[in-house]
Order: sequence, then structure tokens, then C-alpha cells
Amino acid sequence: MSRDFQGLNRRLAAAQPSATYRIIDRVAARRAEGATIISLCAGEPDFDTPAHIRQAAIAAIDAGHTRYTQVAGLRVLREAVAAKFRDENGLQADWESTLVCSGGKQVIYNALAATLNEGDEVIIPAPYWVSYPEMVQLCGGHSRIVTCGADSGFKLTAQALQSAIGADTRWLILNSPSNPTGAVYSREELRALADVLLEHPQVLVLSDDIYEHLIFDRAEFHTIAQVEPRLAERTLTMNGVSKAYAMTGWRIGFATGPRWLLEAMEKLQGQQTSGACSISQHAAVAALRGPKDFIRESREVFQRRRDFMVAMLNDTPGIRCDMPAGAFYAFADCSALIGKVSPGGRGLFSDEDAAHALLDEASVAVVPGSAFGLDGYIRIAYALDDASLHAACEAIRSFCLKTK
Ligand code: GLU
Repeated sequence: MSRDFQGLNRRLAAAQPSATYRIIDRVAARRAEGATIISLCAGEPDFDTPAHIRQAAIAAIDAGHTRYTQVAGLRVLREAVAAKFRDENGLQADWESTLVCSGGKQVIYNALAATLNEGDEVIIPAPYWVSYPEMVQLCGGHSRIVTCGADSGFKLTAQALQSAIGADTRWLILNSPSNPTGAVYSREELRALADVLLEHPQVLVLSDDIYEHLIFDRAEFHTIAQVEPRLAERTLTMNGVSKAYAMTGWRIGFATGPRWLLEAMEKLQGQQTSGACSISQHAAVAALRGPKDFIRESREVFQRRRDFMVAMLNDTPGIRCDMPAGAFYAFADCSALIGKVSPGGRGLFSDEDAAHALLDEASVAVVPGSAFGLDGYIRIAYALDDASLHAACEAIRSFCLKTK
């Protein structure tokens, strides 16, 4: 068949490829050509998966756990997931009210695909993680983007939520700590959002808690179904092992929520991928049931990196960066560079131009803020060793000093 054949699904044709993966792929291509790039674009911990988790996976292979599992996940993992939601989040979960998927992404996609009909709206506070609006598009829904700028700490206020909700609103997506800003919602902020949601019983809530454990300065993590238990019957609380246990490649995400929704998602998954990888599921049991020192240690490392990165960025002409409270991203305002000319002579007309010029001229890869729904910013992932982060900040600084 011709490469030009255009018989694509309309929803897919209208969707954008993943903005993060587009840049990750561009970095890989440049490296294959021999370039040395410091990549601050991939949102994944740079640590190895802890040894006891790797050992559990090897033991699972040796024990012959290499076959299909139940679609919804191994019972032993679902029990561990339910215990995690009960013990760490105060949610009323049992193993039957959980679902295991191939990564957090599949949890979100399954939830939207299982529920959205033509015309349904999904409220997405911006800046948002790049895949939310595209998943909504793929599932036939309509994204209602609510811009939450630096003045509101990049967070959705109760007032903004109230004005965005309409008769067609089906979902609200919350993500705290946030990718890309690192913003963390306090209990009071979630309480205020919950009060609005209680008045609108048709709205489901998707709480993407994947960065739960990466929270700094002794701030406390809260999730909305815990803050307002009356919302639990229409909240899908989603999490996974990727960020907490440095297990991005193992592809294990999970959720708890209303049974009708989990059953619909399981039905979809049964026709699509079946259960998640059996070996990864055994590894995830070891992660959830095993020692938690790794979580504390990695949090300390990320906090230290955050502190020097943000200080170095704020010492760079043309860049301004608020202190993120969680995750491992700095969302830096680069609007002062827009309208100027890069050291290599390129006109910088957008944050995308700035990100491209940084890659080509300073060999540092970042993701433009516009990919996350807010122009004039760049997202810098500080999930890399200290020396590389220092070198990247120096390269950004030298690029900015020569931008006129
Ligand atoms: N969540 C990570 C990021 O934002 C991984 C890439 C992706 O799935 O988008 O960079």
C-alpha cells in the first residue's frame, strides 16, 4: 500500500504526537549523529530500580511467572495496591476496587475511553501534562482548558473551576504534584475545589497522583477523595510505581475508584492489552511491600538538585523560575528571550524557537512550555546527575548571555 494512503481514524488524524517523546526522539537522533546532548527533557528518575525489586523480577522469571495474568492484575498486586491506597492515602480500597494497567498512561486512557461520548467535556487546568488533551481528543471528547498562570501558583482555583463547569462537563483532571510545574495542591485548596464539585454530581474526577512521593520542604501530600470522601464514588485515584520507585520502563500503573468504572476499564483492557507484564507485576509487589528508604533518599536528592538548579536558573539573564514544591521539573519563564536573536543568529519568536535553539546551539534539550499549554516557558527536568545539571545550567546561562 502507498505510504501516502490517508485512511486514518479521524480522531487520531486530529491528535498531536506526544510532545515529550518528539523531543526525546530528536535527542536520540542527534546523539546517533554523534552529538553530545544534555537531556533535560525526559520526565523519568535517573536512578536504577532498587536491587530488591530487580531481584523480585528475576525470581519471578525463574519461578515461571511468565504467562498471562488476570486482566485486572494479579490478586497479590491488587491487594498490595489496595493496602497502599488505604495506608498512604486514607482511601477505602479493597483489592476488588483496584485495577492494574500497563503504566499510568493506560489508566488515564482507559478511563477516558470507557466514559467519553461525543460532546463530553474534560476540564484540564493548564499547564497540563502533554498527553491529557490528546487522550481526550482520541477518545472523542472535548478539552476545556483552564489557564492557571504563575499568579495562581499554576493551580486551579475554586472560582475558575466553577466558571468552567457546564452541563457537558464529564471529567476534571487534577495532577498534584504537577508535571510540568511541580505545583502541589494543599488540603485547603483541594477542599475548595471539592466544595464546587459537590454541587455538580455529573462530574467525575481523575486524580493523577503519580508524583505523590516527590514532594519537598516537608509539605504534605493530599488527594481529593481523601479530603472529601463523598467524592470517592466518582473519583478515579491513579498512581503507579514509575516515579516513586524509578520503574518507568516496567510499565505498571494502578487506580482505585468506583466499581462500575473499574469494570468498564477492565473490559476495555481485556480487548486491548490484557493484563500488564507478569514479571513487572511481581516486581511491583516487591516495590509496594518492601522497604521505603529509596523513596526518602530520592526525594532528598531531588530536593537538593531543585535548590541549586532554581538558584542557577534565576541567576541567568532572561530566565525566571518559581520554586516548585514537588515532582522533578522546573517550569522556567523564558519570555524575556522572545523577540531576541540567539547566539547562532536565529530569531526567537516563541518558546519553541528558544527550545530548538538551546538544543542546536547549547546542546541542552528542554521541552517548550507551549507543549504543556502555557507559552513563554521551558520545562527543565532535573532528573540527572549533579555534574550534568551544573553543565546544563552553565550552557543555558552562556546561551542567554549571548542572546541579544
Ligand atoms: N511523563 C514523562 C514526561 O512528561 C514521560 C514522557 C511522557 O510519557 O510524556 O516527560
